Amino acid sequence: MAPTKYVFPFEQGDAGDRQLLGGKGAGLASMTQMGLPVPPGFTVTTHACRQYYATDQQFPEGLGAEVHAAMKQLEEKTDKVFGDPEKPLFVSVRSGAAMSMPGMMDTILNLGLNDQVVEAFAQATDNPRFAYDAYRRLIQGFGEIAMGAEERRFAEILEAAKQKQGATYDYELTIKSLKDVCDKYKQVILDDLGVEFPQDPMKQLEMAIEAVFGSWMGKRAVDYRREFKITPEMCNGTAVNVQTMVFGNMGNDCATGVAFTRDPGTGDNVLYGEYLTNAQGEDVVAGIRTPKPIAELEREMPENWPDLQKVRHTLEERYHEVQDFEFTIERGKFYMLQTRNGKMNATAFVRTSRDMVEEGVLSVEEALLRISPDHLEQLLHRRIDPSADAEPIASGLPASPGAASGAVVFEADDAEARGRTGEPVILVREETKPEDIHGFFQAKGILTSRGGKTSHAAVVARGMGKPCVVGAEDILIDDREKVAVIKGQRISEGEVITIDGGSGAVYIGDVPTVEPEFGPEMKTLLGWADESRTLGVRANADTPEDAAKAREMGAEGIGLCRTERMFNAADRLPIVRDMILARTEAERREAIEKLRPMQKADFKGIFKAMEGLPVTIRLLDPPLHEFLPSLESLLLELGSLRRVRDHIGASKTNRESIATLIEPSLKESLPPLEQLGEQLSGAEGKLVIDALIEEKETILQTVRDITEVNPMLGHRGVRLGITVPELYSMQIGAILEAVAELTNENVDAVCEIMVPQVTEPQELARVNELVKQVRASVEREYGVQLDFKFGTMIEAVRACIRARPIAEITEFFSFGTNDLTQATFSFSREDAETKFLPQYVEMGVLPENPFEALDIHGVGRLMKLAVESGRAVRPDLKVGICGEHGGHPRSIEFCHTQGLDYVSCSPFRVPIARLAAAQAKLREERRSREEREHPDYPFNVM
Ligand code: ADP
Ligand code: MG
Ligand code: MG
Repeated sequence: MAPTKYVFPFEQGDAGDRQLLGGKGAGLASMTQMGLPVPPGFTVTTHACRQYYATDQQFPEGLGAEVHAAMKQLEEKTDKVFGDPEKPLFVSVRSGAAMSMPGMMDTILNLGLNDQVVEAFAQATDNPRFAYDAYRRLIQGFGEIAMGAEERRFAEILEAAKQKQGATYDYELTIKSLKDVCDKYKQVILDDLGVEFPQDPMKQLEMAIEAVFGSWMGKRAVDYRREFKITPEMCNGTAVNVQTMVFGNMGNDCATGVAFTRDPGTGDNVLYGEYLTNAQGEDVVAGIRTPKPIAELEREMPENWPDLQKVRHTLEERYHEVQDFEFTIERGKFYMLQTRNGKMNATAFVRTSRDMVEEGVLSVEEALLRISPDHLEQLLHRRIDPSADAEPIASGLPASPGAASGAVVFEADDAEARGRTGEPVILVREETKPEDIHGFFQAKGILTSRGGKTSHAAVVARGMGKPCVVGAEDILIDDREKVAVIKGQRISEGEVITIDGGSGAVYIGDVPTVEPEFGPEMKTLLGWADESRTLGVRANADTPEDAAKAREMGAEGIGLCRTERMFNAADRLPIVRDMILARTEAERREAIEKLRPMQKADFKGIFKAMEGLPVTIRLLDPPLHEFLPSLESLLLELGSLRRVRDHIGASKTNRESIATLIEPSLKESLPPLEQLGEQLSGAEGKLVIDALIEEKETILQTVRDITEVNPMLGHRGVRLGITVPELYSMQIGAILEAVAELTNENVDAVCEIMVPQVTEPQELARVNELVKQVRASVEREYGVQLDFKFGTMIEAVRACIRARPIAEITEFFSFGTNDLTQATFSFSREDAETKFLPQYVEMGVLPENPFEALDIHGVGRLMKLAVESGRAVRPDLKVGICGEHGGHPRSIEFCHTQGLDYVSCSPFRVPIARLAAAQAKLREERRSREEREHPDYPFNVM
């Protein structure tokens, strides 16, 4: 076996192999090979570093000899000699792993200087100040990094020297002072460490290489890798780059700087960066002097400006990416020292993707693949102004992205009243309920102190695209007193707060926010995405407004329209309650029939907004108790009413004492207090209260009757539809009548009726029977031929297993992956997310929260089974997903690989889904067949 090669000169390294050469080494190799002016040097591979750790921190065999040989070559190439006072060669020893870990590992400059060389170098350059300054930097950097001396000791000496001389800046030190500093530095090393600073350059080099290897396992680097989840597969060991020094600090025809090929803040196609004349690279970052904007270099060093412009284009053409590079100018000659992909903000990413395609630098495919869906997400919502320096006072779960400021209100009614006047308000509650919905409409944002990401507040806010923070447990809310207390600070109604639903942060006061940007660049880019993808993108929308929003965001249909949201409107809830509380069949039918025209009008509105595009309407899903008040609140109200009744007629009754007995939630059902005050003194008052008590007792009885141990696994969805057929019959009627009326108005209503919670084909067969009957009667009544699809949610494990017979009855499947995930894990999401999932993820028991990122090997496997079995009997079975995962990029990619027809997500995530669907398709094309069959292919279900 040929011995492993550990050392590659920049001319020879495989510039594509970042794993072996590290990012910096690969960049230096590629720039050298492209003919850019790179000071010559070589790379010691990451493999050598791994060997070093594998063999108890010994240099691997042969490495020493290879380094010596490479140094010889370097001497020949540069016509200089390492350690020779006459024509000295100096090198830097630079760390660089496969992934950029900025500032986490070490680099030492100016190796090759010693007492003798510095003296000769000072004379030869006729610049002793520079020579001794370089030596001082070497002793300090080497002392700290390669020998373990304390930084503080060097800083003290430098400070003392400046003081003694009355200087403010390092560069004001005289030659004598600098020489003195060098001597003291060496003395500190000897005193503290008991060894001399090595005068033998080869010894310096070996120690420096070892120190760079060592920095791979340094605390900073280890912490950084843990924090950013950098695994050994991604990046293992650091390479070491040994490179001829060039000096930006030899005079005013010298400079050093860092630049981006484009502005990373705006994406503008201009060189962006800073530089310093007469300085060494580290000075720019160190902030010792204030660097100048790069544009000034055009004036200050006009001969070198064209070098920079040329490099800018060469780099982008080579990397097809904006580059962030380091350069140094030594006595008028321009050198490149590093290049890497530029980190940019979201705006710049989108802008440069569009521009670089139009300039011919990128292909459309590259432009789409380089944008992360997270970036898009940032642009689609208002966010906290990045330049605002505000400290959050509390934080909760980020439930719905976007930032909003407004006056605190504690009741939905107050939100409505104040919001209507145009005042921005934030609704702050312990948790929200369906009857708070009118407050949501007027609020700019919602903040709760309890509940998880599927709490009512979270789900509703997400659906509306309003910023929402939930479960901010540090906030104590007293909605009677209308005050919140956060870490001892009282916030009364009307005080302004700001919430960031993207991060979960809560701020006091009006923190500046910036507008979302859906500019022309984004439109162009998403247009390309639409041309590239095969997976459809729909939205979940319950109202005509949401539907219009969805369309504006590019949705190609509605994948989920939840009818229960319509039941919660203020004018409907009483009717719905009548329906539930009905004592006779006739009473129930009457209530149901009152709902029919209302639902029909809703459906017409949505079909119209989506004209020509499919709308999937789900029949009623939640358990009925969700439309009734909770047991606790009823008991509270009844207690309060009974106390009020006992006070009536008592001698010292007055309004104020009664007022304190009334539960706030009762105010709506009682006459105003002034009126009540009068009535209460007489028998009339008793009657009012007695009637109310009776009404509440009836509701209480019903609530008790329909209370279930596990309502989410209880009487809901199709189970309700089958046992109370009037309900589904009315809904189906309202849907089909809406379609029929629109057909007669020449509006193209594309309808899909969807049944929730199905576990058994028989359930569907029965609902289908209902559909047939209703269809026949609507067709007769309206004289039209109806055209629509009948399908089912797939959200129970059994539905996946029985997908084959289910597909015989239905024309489409839509995965409800929230319920399916709960069912697959037997986790209740709320409990899991608040109790143990965070620890599970932290400890690595589960890789991710399966309610956010689709669990490919569990839930995904069931989905695969369902798709395959369903299509086996109905090849044209349409399959979609309407759970929240439908807006999650990696889950979207999985859906693409499984042949789903569409994903459906919140209107505000539609652009993200469009991009993610395009990326899924493009990546699939990129991957070769072999890779797909490779066991590591991430979407292979095992
Ligand atoms: P980092 O990865 O922390 O940026 P680098 O290895 O890039 O560390 O080096 C730190 C500084 O030293 C940079 O400003 C770099 O440009 C400069 N530098 C490194 N090697 C040389 C060299 N051979 N000649 C001149 N400057 C150098
Ligand atoms: Mg660098
Ligand atoms: Mg469901």
